[in-house]
Parts: sequence; structure tokens; C-alpha cells
Amino acid sequence: MPDEMTVARSETGDPLLLTPGPLTTSKSVKAAMVHDWGSRDAAFLRINREVLERLPAIVNGGADYVTVPVQGSGTFAVEAMLTSFVPAGGCCLLVINGAYGQRARRILEIAKRRTVVCETAEDTPPDLDRIEQVLKADPGITHIFVVHCETTSGILNPVHEIGALAAKYAKGYLVDSMSAFGALPLDAPAAHADAVAASSNKCIEGVPGLGFVICRRAALVATDGNATTLTLDLLDQSRVLEKTGQYRFTPPIHVIVAFHQALTEFFAEGGQPGRGGRYAGNCQELIDGMRAMGFETLLPDALQAPIIVTFRMPADRRFVFQTFYDKLKDRGFVIYPGKLTVADSFRIGCIGRLDRSHMRLALDAIREVLHELGVASVAAHKAA
Ligand SMILES: *Cc1c(COP(=O)(O)O)cnc(C)c1O
Repeated sequence: MPDEMTVARSETGDPLLLTPGPLTTSKSVKAAMVHDWGSRDAAFLRINREVLERLPAIVNGGADYVTVPVQGSGTFAVEAMLTSFVPAGGCCLLVINGAYGQRARRILEIAKRRTVVCETAEDTPPDLDRIEQVLKADPGITHIFVVHCETTSGILNPVHEIGALAAKYAKGYLVDSMSAFGALPLDAPAAHADAVAASSNKCIEGVPGLGFVICRRAALVATDGNATTLTLDLLDQSRVLEKTGQYRFTPPIHVIVAFHQALTEFFAEGGQPGRGGRYAGNCQELIDGMRAMGFETLLPDALQAPIIVTFRMPADRRFVFQTFYDKLKDRGFVIYPGKLTVADSFRIGCIGRLDRSHMRLALDAIREVLHELGVASVAAHKAA
């Protein structure tokens, strides 16, 4: 046995997920799932209606916006948004600085929609001047897509500024706000967003299985005939739900009931400012503690969203990431490998049912593991 061993567990005795989702959920969210409901049962339909009605307010979407749920993970919602909104003759300008932007490009390629790409490196914000030039040069562009917090690096993208360009050039505007929704401010009408995609298992702290797209009603109605699939047709899904209160195909009932509980806890915490404030505290605790050990963050503080933090891999050969990961897992902390092209790195999430005290325990555990590995300096390789 090592002399020191900091161990942490969630309320249900599980390791803490310091990952960008699925993430650690409260015991009460999980407990909401221990019943059975029929998918056409009135009690379930009421819970579902409340879930859908509560969501638009989180992005200041009033009566002009409607939530369209999509069974599946977050990517299903992004694919539903892109393929429902971008028509056959349309063209989407993709603002890319990470893997989720690349995924959107792949979705549109498969759907045979024309795309134009404005790409920057994973640690670099979008180039707004370049985006404007491209919009001027290519009048065939009908939509702009951006990822709010690019979870690849944790970078915060300027969604409102890009939305101002969408409005100036009269383009549809589609936002993947998956890892930011509920934690970072997003004013959908002020950002001129036609659609905002997110999911149950990120900052609202539900369990995985439901994506959703918050759509401007007028823009949604205009998507008639665009869909490339039956299951991901947002307009059809929305029409049937509005007409009957029911899903076209089996909904993830338990996930939705747990999501209802998660939303109740979210609003009890003060909604987006409350949730975002807790995550910002977690992020600060983590960054301060890691820097005190000598770790370097990939991003400067001004670009860092309080969702997930990318750290440069230490150069010391005694720092073997898999061993570091396993030893942290033994202590009850699950972190995330980095899959960035700009730097060898690993990531630690700040979201989920965690507070500063959990981050301090994680830092204690990291110090112990570094000691066990005999790593004296965590300085990173110098950039090539
Ligand atoms: C998590 C996430 C998604 C969706 O991923 P799934 O694995 O399909 O849930 C999409 N975009 C971003 C930015 C994300 O962080």
C-alpha cells in the first residue's frame, strides 16, 4: 500500500467522472429511473411535456422557439439539425476548430450537402474576418454552423459574434452547444440562432440517451421537405409531438424522467448562472492546482471555457499516461485522454455533480500518483 491514498466516490459509490459527459449525476437523478412507464402513459407524457417546455428558457428562447427532442446521443441531434435545416440546394459554412466541427462536416458530406470550411487549429479561435470574406465571396452559402464550446480542447467559440455575421448576411445559423448548454450563457434570439443542439448528459447533468434541438419556430417550419432520413426529421418529430403529445418512435422514457429531475435540480441551483458559477469554481480550482504542480494548460485563460481543461503531456519519460490514468482510476477519478493534433495532451473535465472539494481531492490524488511514478517535473515538451 502506498503511504497516502486519496480516494473519492460519488453519492452512489462510483468513481467520479472528470470527463465531458456522460458525467457524474446525482443520486436523485438516477433514482428517478426505478419505475416503468408506458410510452403513451399520461404521467410520462406530462413529464415529457414539462421537459420540452423548460428547455428554451435556458437560452432565452421565448415563445418563438420550440424544443424538438431526438432519441439518441448528442450527435443524433446535431445530425438531425444539420440534415433538417440545410436543404438539398443549400450550402453550409462550417466554422471548425476541433473534432466536433469535423464531425459536422462528415455528416453533411454523407447527406451530400455542399460545405465551405473556415478552419483554425484546435487552440485557435475562429477568424471572424476570414468568415466574413468567405460569406461575401460565396453567395451560395445558406447556413453557418459553429460549435459553442469545442470539447476537443475546451475552447470557447464566439457564438454571438458569428451569429451577428449570420444576421448581417441573412444566413441560417446552427449551433452545436452540446457541452456548453446550461453552463455558459447563450441568448438564442440575440445570437440570431435558428437552432441550438444539446443533450441530456452534459451540463444539465442527466443520463445519456436524449438529444434535442431548440428551434426558432419559423425557421423549423421552413425546413419542410429537407430531411434526408425519417428518424431525424425534426419538423415531422415536432409536428407529431405538438399534435399528439407523443413520440413517433419509442422514446428513452427513463432517460427523459431522469432528465426532468435533473432540470428541477438545475433550476434549484439557479439555472445557467448558478450551474456555470459552480463549474467556473471547479475549473479555477483545477487550473490553479495543476499549475502549482507545474502543468501547463493548452489554452490561455481568455479562451478557456469552464467545461474541460487540456493539459500538455509532461516530457518526463516516467510519466506514462496509461499508468497515470489507471492509478487515478483506482483512487476514484476518471480523466480523459487528449486526441488533439496540435499537442500531446490529456484532459480533465470540470462538469457534473462535482464541486471544488472534489477538484481538491483530485489534485491530491494527482500529486500522490506523480510521486509514485517518480515524476519530479511535469514540464511539457517544447513546442516543435
Ligand atoms: C458531447 C458532444 C457532442 C455529442 O457527442 P455524443 O457522443 O454523440 O453525445 C457533440 N458536440 C459536442 C461539442 C460535444 O461536446
